[in-house]
Amino acid sequence: MRLILLLVVLGLSAPLSADYFSDEDLAIARELRERALVRDGGFDVVEDLTTRVGPRLAGTEADARAVAWAVELLNGLGFDRVWKEPVTFPTWSRNFERVRVTSPVEQRMEALAIGYSPATPEGGIEAEVVMFDDLDALLNAEPEDVAGRIVFIRNRMERSRDGSGYGPAVQARSRGAIVAAEKGAVGVIIRSIGTSTNRFAHTGGMRFDLGQRRLPAAAISNPDADQLERLIALGEPVRLHMEIDAQKTEAYTSHNVIAEITGATSPEKIVALGAHLDSWDVGTGALDDGAGIAIITEAGRLILDLDRRPDRSIHLIFFAAEEVGLWGGRAWAEAHHQNFENLQLGAESDFGAGQIYEIGARVLDEAWPVIEAIQRELAPLGIDLGRRQASGGPDFLPSLPHGLAVVDLRQDGTTYFDYHHTENDTLDKIDPVDLAQNAAAYAVLAWLAAQSPVDFGSGPALLEQERSRAQ
Ligand SMILES: [Zn+2]
Repeated sequence: MRLILLLVVLGLSAPLSADYFSDEDLAIARELRERALVRDGGFDVVEDLTTRVGPRLAGTEADARAVAWAVELLNGLGFDRVWKEPVTFPTWSRNFERVRVTSPVEQRMEALAIGYSPATPEGGIEAEVVMFDDLDALLNAEPEDVAGRIVFIRNRMERSRDGSGYGPAVQARSRGAIVAAEKGAVGVIIRSIGTSTNRFAHTGGMRFDLGQRRLPAAAISNPDADQLERLIALGEPVRLHMEIDAQKTEAYTSHNVIAEITGATSPEKIVALGAHLDSWDVGTGALDDGAGIAIITEAGRLILDLDRRPDRSIHLIFFAAEEVGLWGGRAWAEAHHQNFENLQLGAESDFGAGQIYEIGARVLDEAWPVIEAIQRELAPLGIDLGRRQASGGPDFLPSLPHGLAVVDLRQDGTTYFDYHHTENDTLDKIDPVDLAQNAAAYAVLAWLAAQSPVDFGSGPALLEQERSRAQ
């Protein structure tokens, strides 16, 4: 009698997944999870992409081959519909970069030009270095201390599981070359935005508005940045020579590639899984973001293998041109935001191949218990319930102001920034066991989100909820 009472009380206070999903839907979610774990998480997909296509900088010939590769892959897997949507952006490509200390001693520095860096004049530039702790210090500097010099920004990215050290550190890369230009500098060198102690540099993009003056800019490896700091600490003027050959061209049109599993009862409603197809030109873009392409493809493949279709549709979106400015994400938001009430949920995998440890979501209050119910099915994968907020991943950022509901499946990024945007981002860094855990989570999320008893509130409803909460 007491036991029954206890069960009743527990039943009232702790809702069960069965309160939100049918027994059959839950059984399928568990089957997807278990099947994913005995497979390799789509390792074959990232292996094929990084081998057959290799590095695939947006706007290059390899980008076009990647798009063709994606269309062929997704058609071959038997998705109900596969199509391309245009994405137009200015391209940039590097020929070479050379950075060396010329005084007080001669030493070559291991460097990579930052994306959209202009070329130096032929023969390069040589100037005295002026060092700043971070972008804020440069912002506060007097122009006469900067003019005619090469600016060196030395901030170091801190390592953490959630990658939170990246945001503050990356300011040096994204804005350094513009701020330094305003103060009359001739070039910019930054400490690589990465956590590796190996002697290779981390590239990445810079932010700029068309017409804004930019300076030649390069990142040097962490050990080279240490060395440069020590040379400066000696107290003698330190001079650097830098030479960059790179070019920016006018508009190029690539494509987002989208594959659909058509919903059985509400095909117009869509759960969108994303990853980006482009990569930097160094390494083979295995972790960034071949892993994401593999994870969502495997999740889609597992659901396609079921003997029934989900209620809502599931889309896989291979975004174009993420690295050089979120162009694919911007084009997708622009093309689809009128339809966001049907776009149920977005979730992008773009943080390497580490295991997922937490789920967070930005959804309507009424839908949060469904997220909790989904988390209970992810718990056996070691995934905890996280914050009631999410970004959905970089390519869904441009959709957030339109009210897209999003989920974050947060990956362990402890080592991600050892390889991020470097020559060392290669296939051997991916563990198929971790990849399978990721694919299992995305398959469960996509399936249950497609079967959810309530919508997640994308569009005006979600924006309204946020407005009223902010008041
Ligand atoms: Zn990425």
